[in-house]
Amino acid sequence: MHLPFSKLDFGGVKNAIILLDIDGTLVPDGGDVPVKEIVEKCHELVEHNKVYLLSNKKNHDRNEAIAGLLHATYINTPRKKPSRKVLGSLDMQGKSLIVVGDKFLTDGILAKRIGARFIKAKRIVDVRDGYINKTMYALDDLIYQLFKSVVWRGRSS
Ligand SMILES: [Mg+2]
Repeated sequence: MHLPFSKLDFGGVKNAIILLDIDGTLVPDGGDVPVKEIVEKCHELVEHNKVYLLSNKKNHDRNEAIAGLLHATYINTPRKKPSRKVLGSLDMQGKSLIVVGDKFLTDGILAKRIGARFIKAKRIVDVRDGYINKTMYALDDLIYQLFKSVVWRGRSS
């Protein structure tokens, strides 16, 4: 199973560009303040990498505030994942790229499009998550499972 962001093993990754999703990865959907373990994990990564936050929720004030707390850089853009245009003119030359997120259809596909490694984080859920959200989560996880099984079959034959 996937691990929550705070427990992910980045294997001492250095000098990479790490693109972090916010909702469901760093905070529960719509949340404002990441817990201490998340903040510490991000500070670890920031020491040796360039860490950016990307969100399809265009609550820029909140997103900026979370980035500040994490010592990361918020990419303020009207574009949405999985469009690669979310990255604007970000210079990715010669860097290894990692996308971390809880959703395959946004974060996972973005990673594929930009040739990044995708690390799926265990989603932070909340009892207040609504029915629509839960349905989207279930659908996303199902599609990810299907995608993985297709790729796996393709490789084994
Ligand atoms: Mg998310």
